[in-house]
Amino acid sequence: MLLVAVFIFGALIGSFLNVCIHRLPIDESVVFPASHCPHCQQPIQPYDNVPILSYVILRGRCRSCGAGISARYPAVETLTGLAAVAVLCAGGLTAHALLAFAFVCALIVITFVDVDCQIIPDAISLPGIGVGFAAALLLGQPSWPASLAGILLGGGLLWGVAEGYHWLTGREGMGGGDIKLLAMIGAFLGWQAVPVTLMIASLAGTAVGVTLMVMQGRDRRTAIPFGPFLAVGATCALFWGDTLIAWYLGIAQAA
Ligand SMILES: [Zn+2]
Repeated sequence: MLLVAVFIFGALIGSFLNVCIHRLPIDESVVFPASHCPHCQQPIQPYDNVPILSYVILRGRCRSCGAGISARYPAVETLTGLAAVAVLCAGGLTAHALLAFAFVCALIVITFVDVDCQIIPDAISLPGIGVGFAAALLLGQPSWPASLAGILLGGGLLWGVAEGYHWLTGREGMGGGDIKLLAMIGAFLGWQAVPVTLMIASLAGTAVGVTLMVMQGRDRRTAIPFGPFLAVGATCALFWGDTLIAWYLGIAQAA
């Protein structure tokens, strides 16, 4: 019963995340006006704004004009609901689990905005750095020095990579948004999570990049947004960070 309630809570938050994903890149308020159909501008009635269910009942079409509604809306709601269940199972009903959920929500918004617009909104990453550090001060998990070191390492590492790439090739490879995002990840998870996140993100990014190149014959220089991969890496670090670090240290010692 609790899991169902938590899933519904997560899906409702996911509904709000959809609004953020849609409005943050165009600098619109996420509160006003109320949700409206992007096609006919008709306000969406509360009974048509039930996460996941409304999409199914309306068969993915606006009630007023019949325009198709992107399947991404229910997908984000489902994903957020599952994320809420996952943090509850991993951490129980604690302040830390709530914080972890907020962190995953920020990653979900960042992922989809980056896919859509190739930007990572400062409106999330910069306050995120502050919230992550403040939470470390209050909850002590990670400790505040580990959080501070995470901000510096996360921001510094990618800044170094970006500068090095620019120096070597004369091209901009990595955006400032990625740098601020990894600093935020370091603030929430501590410095130990930064190399874990970066490693998973690089592996996943390379795998997807190579696949795209083979399938679509994409030019090597075509930039793929890196934010979603950092978000995946950070999610792995959040749930399995200790295991991954232990595994890595095991290999390092064996070698
Ligand atoms: Zn409409």
